[in-house]
Amino acid sequence: MNAAGEADHIVMLRDTMRRFIDKEMPRELAQKWDKENVFPRDVHDKLVELGLTGLTVAEEYGGSGRDITATIMVIEELCSRSMAVGCAYIQSTCYAGLNISEVASEEQRRTLLPRVASEGLMVAYGFSEPDVGADLASVRTTAVREGDELVINGNKRFCSGAKISEYIYALVRTGPVEEKYRNLSLVLIPPDSEGIEMTAQDTMGLKGGGTFDISFDDVRVPVSNVVGGEEGLGQGWSKLVGPGLDIEKIEVAAMALGIARGAVNDAWNYAQERVQFGKPICTIQSVRHMLADVKTKFEACRLMTYNAAALIDANQPAAADTSMAKLFVCDTARDIVLTCQQIMGAYGYVRDFDMQRYVRDVLVMPILGGSSAIQRNNIANLLKLPR
Ligand SMILES: Cc1cc2nc3c(=O)[nH]c(=O)nc-3n(C[C@H](O)[C@H](O)[C@H](O)COP(=O)(O)OP(=O)(O)OC[C@H]3O[C@@H](n4cnc5c(N)ncnc54)[C@H](O)[C@@H]3O)c2cc1C
Repeated sequence: MNAAGEADHIVMLRDTMRRFIDKEMPRELAQKWDKENVFPRDVHDKLVELGLTGLTVAEEYGGSGRDITATIMVIEELCSRSMAVGCAYIQSTCYAGLNISEVASEEQRRTLLPRVASEGLMVAYGFSEPDVGADLASVRTTAVREGDELVINGNKRFCSGAKISEYIYALVRTGPVEEKYRNLSLVLIPPDSEGIEMTAQDTMGLKGGGTFDISFDDVRVPVSNVVGGEEGLGQGWSKLVGPGLDIEKIEVAAMALGIARGAVNDAWNYAQERVQFGKPICTIQSVRHMLADVKTKFEACRLMTYNAAALIDANQPAAADTSMAKLFVCDTARDIVLTCQQIMGAYGYVRDFDMQRYVRDVLVMPILGGSSAIQRNNIANLLKLPR
């Protein structure tokens, strides 16, 4: 165990990650991926070679066994340098690896999990729609059974990484809308299926895999593509809010933590190099206080994130802790990054420095994966606050 309380295998893996990032993800490349909105598949492939996409896959399916703390640490490290690599890693390890392990059929596990571990197979989340955000159970995209096929019609929005993924992991309605939480199913839809059109959205951050509007016009997939197989028809809601949801919340916290760490490191170093009034600005009390604040807030975020991960790894109830971590870490990371930008003055606002990228990327963290308001609702409800 190190001074931060991390287990030996996490310390070693973190060291490997730092060397990997220095070698394979230098700042110039991270800036290029962000600017050109491209996903570096070669870097993803190297993560696969290191066995890192197998961290959520059981050994019997070719992985190294589920280790959520390690997965979260890898996400933090990757996102401290590049969301283009970090988001794709999440699409493989979490969106595909965790969901398929938890809620797919045995046949789907045997077919897909080895590919997550050995190829870095990715899925993209197709949940949001033009009129559906937080209220996911209101999705309108329909899937109607015709023999052994489902015929899908409707529209998805903000489908991140759809073009680089093997499947869209889509929440669709497979029965009457009146029964809101029933008649929903999760379906694996290949993004190159006939009848699919994708339109890129121009987001301010999270560049790399891209984010897309997707229309489905009589798209046909086999019923066997329903997550969980035929028995999964109508079970979409319980599969969506199942055990994977707790991990999903701290995945986003880990992304925010990584971005915050990049910002704190850069501001810390910059304040020692930038000289004004004949001395480094880190000697000015107000700047020292800002730096002390961001270090302190970062440590609180780190502890909350890894505490929640440890609860999950220990199979303890973690719904409230993961909601608290998602809420606190994402909101606090945004504060941290904005303070770091302030420390860097004008240089925190120009493209040549990474700070503006951290700002663009961190702003979406309190919105994604259940907004801060939704987490507050969850926490009050989970802690049984009377209504
Ligand atoms: C860059 C980016 C990438 C994304 N990637 C994906 C993706 O890959 N797949 C996907 O499916 N979606 C994705 N999303 C969508 C994202 O998950 C949604 O933005 C999110 O679910 C919130 O939905 P909304 O923005 O429509 O907000 P709305 O649901 O319309 O909410 C608007 C505001 O009202 C508040 N609010 C809503 N309901 C409540 C309530 N009950 N109590 C309190 N406050 C409430 C919200 O907190 C928010 O402040 C992405 C979004 C972005 C910006």
